[in-house]
Order: sequence, then C-alpha cells, then structure tokens
Amino acid sequence: MQCPFCGDDDDKVIDSRSSEGGQAVRRRRQCLACNRRFTTYERVEETTRIMVIKKDGSRVPYDRQRLLSGLQKACYKRPVSDKQLMQIVEIIEESIFRNYEKDVPSSFIGDTASDCLRKTDKVAFIRFASVYREFEDVGELIEHAEEVRDIPDEDPDQKILFDASDKDSKSAQSTDREQKAQK
Ligand SMILES: [Zn+2]
Repeated sequence: MQCPFCGDDDDKVIDSRSSEGGQAVRRRRQCLACNRRFTTYERVEETTRIMVIKKDGSRVPYDRQRLLSGLQKACYKRPVSDKQLMQIVEIIEESIFRNYEKDVPSSFIGDTASDCLRKTDKVAFIRFASVYREFEDVGELIEHAEEVRDIPDEDPDQKILFDASDKDSKSAQSTDREQKAQK
C-alpha cells in the first residue's frame, strides 16, 4: 500500500481487526521507509454482493448460513450428512452465480434447493418445499406429495413422506406389505 506521507510502496501490517460489524477489515500499517503509521479499510465490493429479491419485492443480502439452516431443518433426522448439505449449498451458489449477476429471485434459490433435495432425500424435499414454496393451499401440497410418491423408490423407508416416529413408520410399512400380499 502506498504510504500517504512519503509515497513509498513498502509497509508492514501492525494490526488487523474486523470493523463495521464484520463488513470491513481495518489494518494499521507502518511505512518501512519513513516509519509513519496509517490505516486502511478493506471491504467486499458492493457490486459483488448478491442480493435476494423476496416475493414481496424487498431485497436482502444473500446469506449462506440462512440457506444452510433451512436445508438442515428439512433434513432433520434424515440420512443426509453435513458434507452432502454443504455440497447442495455449493451447487445452489454455483447456479446463482452462473445465472444472475447481482439480484436473484428467492424463488430461484428455493427451486434449485428443492431440485437438489428431491434427488437427495424425498422426505426432506417435501418438508422443504412445503415451507419454502409457501403452497397456495393444501391441495397443491398434496399434488406435490403425489408427484413424489409416483417416483419409483429404491429405499422403502422413503415411502413415508411425513415425519412419523420410527415405530409408526415400521408398522405402516408392514401394513403396506400385507396389503400388497393380499392383492
Ligand atoms: Zn512513508
């Protein structure tokens, strides 16, 4: 950094700390030529910050942590690892940066997250979709649930769409099998 006193371009950083509530880094520097001290501030360029446009038209800064906790809630007690969740976040972010320069509609993030969860865990998908998409009515939610049920399933556990306790889901499955056997 060029010294504001003598113009020399050689300095050392004496102190670095977060400033403006984490929005900037304040650095105290000492010029190696004249030994005088000066302060610099480093911030993320405004233009590189992705803003999310919500349904009501308001804009909020994109927040990775918020997306992640939404996904975690949907995957609560489901066989989805933290590593898988982080991969989903990365896929969503890549997709945002590929498709949008600055403003991204919240519906795009919701749809992309839904797609990822649909491929990962169907229970998590339904939970997420029911919250994120703000279904117009119960009929629409059921429609989506039917859609999921129609997808051929490798794992019989995943046929239980809603959060039933383990005991309940086991008995539900056995009833299901008995019914099939009778047919
Ligand atoms: Zn200097």
